[in-house]
Parts: sequence; C-alpha cells; structure tokens
Amino acid sequence: MPRPIEAVIHPAALAANLARARAAAASARVWAVVKANAYGHGIERAFAGLRGADGFALLDLAEAERIRALGWRGPVLLLEGCFEPRDLELCSRLELWHVVHCTEQIDWLAAHKTQRPQRVFLKLNSGMNRLGFRPEVYRSAWTRLNALPQVDEISLMTHFSDADGARGVAHQVAVFEATTRDLPGERSLSNSAAILRHGLANDWVRAGILSYGSAPDFPEHDIRHWGLQPTMTLRSRLIAVQQLQPGDTVGYGSSYTATQAQRIGIVACGYADGYPRHCGTDTPVLVDGVRSGTVGRVSMDMLAVDLSGLPRAGIGSEVTLWGNGPGGTLLAIDDVARAAGTIGYELMCALAPRVPVRVDEDPL
Ligand SMILES: *Cc1c(COP(=O)(O)O)cnc(C)c1O
Repeated sequence: MPRPIEAVIHPAALAANLARARAAAASARVWAVVKANAYGHGIERAFAGLRGADGFALLDLAEAERIRALGWRGPVLLLEGCFEPRDLELCSRLELWHVVHCTEQIDWLAAHKTQRPQRVFLKLNSGMNRLGFRPEVYRSAWTRLNALPQVDEISLMTHFSDADGARGVAHQVAVFEATTRDLPGERSLSNSAAILRHGLANDWVRAGILSYGSAPDFPEHDIRHWGLQPTMTLRSRLIAVQQLQPGDTVGYGSSYTATQAQRIGIVACGYADGYPRHCGTDTPVLVDGVRSGTVGRVSMDMLAVDLSGLPRAGIGSEVTLWGNGPGGTLLAIDDVARAAGTIGYELMCALAPRVPVRVDEDPL
C-alpha cells in the first residue's frame, strides 16, 4: 500500500468559485489567474474547473504553452510580460497578450519582427512600487507604444497593494484615473480582494485566490462569508497511536509535554509534503471529520494530533489537514495558514511533489 497521504483537487468547486467572481464583477470579463501552476493545483487538473473564464493569466511562458496545449484558443496574458526579446517570438506564435511594465520591454517590441501586431497591457505603478511605469512617464510610454506597428490594442492596468486591508484601494484608483483619464483602451485593476471587498469591476478582473477557495482578507472574513468552497483537500491517515502519561513529551525538541494521560495519533504528513513546519501545538485538523489539533513539532514525514475525545480513532482513521473532510465537514486552508503565521496562498502553492494528487469526479 502506498503511504496514505493524498491531495484531491475539486474542479466543481473551482467552477463555483469562479462563478462567484463573475457574480461580484457582473459586467467585467474574468481572467482566471493560474500562475504558480494554478496556485499549486496543477494547470491541467484545474483547467476543467476554470475553463468558463474569459482568459488565463500567468507568468511563465512554459505555463502559457501548457494552456495552449490543453486546446485553449482564447486570451492568455503574461502578467510580468516578456523576460527577454526572444520571448516575443513565442507571444507571436501562441498569440499571447503581455504586460509591458518597463522601457526595455518597449525597446524589445520596437525591434521585434512580426507580421501580426500584439495586444499589450501597459502597467501603471500606482503605488505598489513593484512593476510598472510611474504616473509621470506612463503617458509617454503609451504614446511610444501606440506608434509601434508591432503593437495592436493597448489595455491599461495596475495592481493594488492593500485591497485586502485597512488602507484599501481608493488612493491607487485615484492615481490610475488621473493618469489614464482620456486614454482609450480596456482597463484591468482588480485582484480577488478588490473584486470581493470593493466590488471594483473594470473591463477585466483578475481572479486568483478566490477561485482556489481561500479568503483574500482572512481572518476578517472567511470563505463561508464570501461563499467560496475549498478546491484542494490534503488528507492522510493515522499510522500509529501513543498513550501518553503525565510528563511525557512529543516529537523533536520535546516542545509538548502531556499534563495528564492523553492519547495522540501519528499522521503520515510532514513538512516534506508541504505541511507548514511553523505551526505550534493546536493547529486545527479533522480526525474522522471531528476537529482536533496538532501536538508538538511537525517533522519531515509525520505530525501528531490530539485524540482526546476521540476514543474510536485508531490506525487508519482519516485525517483532513485542510479542505473537505468526511460527511460534509470542512477545514478551511486559511485556518491552518493562520496557525502557521502565513496565508492560504503559500500553503497551496507549497504542496510537495511527492504527494499523489487525484482529481475529484464530482460533476461540474
Ligand atoms: C497574482 C496576481 C493576481 C491575483 O491575485 P489574487 O490575490 O490571488 O486574486 C492579480 N494580478 C496580478 C498582477 C497578480 O500578479
């Protein structure tokens, strides 16, 4: 028997979450953001659930090739644009749309030999200070692009630094509007948090994390609040049970000491599977669908869980690390991420290659 751990991807939940994005951004077209191998889900596995999107947005040219290999003929957008001049050849061949965020990318386009003009998204740095042209040079970049025979339509975009938090998006929206006011072209501003929290829907929205069943502004709101469903379940089984006496310790570093007699279970899941090592005792887990917590340090291949109040749990009991548990139970990935001092994004992206992944057969 293989080691009992597995991840399950739920295409029906991906489709339902994408529908949530559509409902929240009624008039806009929706990019399904599938960078980082569809946030760890696997592009090929996520595709069936996300193919109702209007386009796919990603970073890596190899991932763009994989989307085309799946038969997707619609828009594909490179969110960081080209990394070197010859990437433009692939853009021509695969009809990729690409972000232009710096002067060098315009130089490359100007030198590119093509019969077919390319669609670009000109990125404004409205305050994030990661990618994009500052407001004072944005319009000259637009004018230069607009004069190039290599360029077809120019769309306008920016990205928010605080859509999920207290600072919000108003200051960046104001910069965007002041800079782009009379420029033609479609607009794309919103990520998941801006779609859900601010209802901000320009021509194209960019739905990432919400599609994958994690709340962009957890813990202020959880997935139930936003009507999202888990799209990835990580589950395993108990492979041993220990009966602790008062004073017994658990695992490396003896970070947990039993204060009374206590049963614990050992789960075949560790940090080499992508489970976060930085979570303390009492990180939530489900044992046979019942909420319990971890005990002591997570090691490479195993972790321990409390079995107090679970007298029937034993070797072979099902343990849900995140996602859907038995009998309709649920453990949101955000709850686990919080206990590890991180966000749902990081956990799903870090699912380790050694974990076998299955695609749920539930109908779309
Ligand atoms: C990743 C990314 C998104 C999606 O963000 P979410 O918070 O996952 O919705 C949108 N736009 C850009 C430019 C990105 O890099």
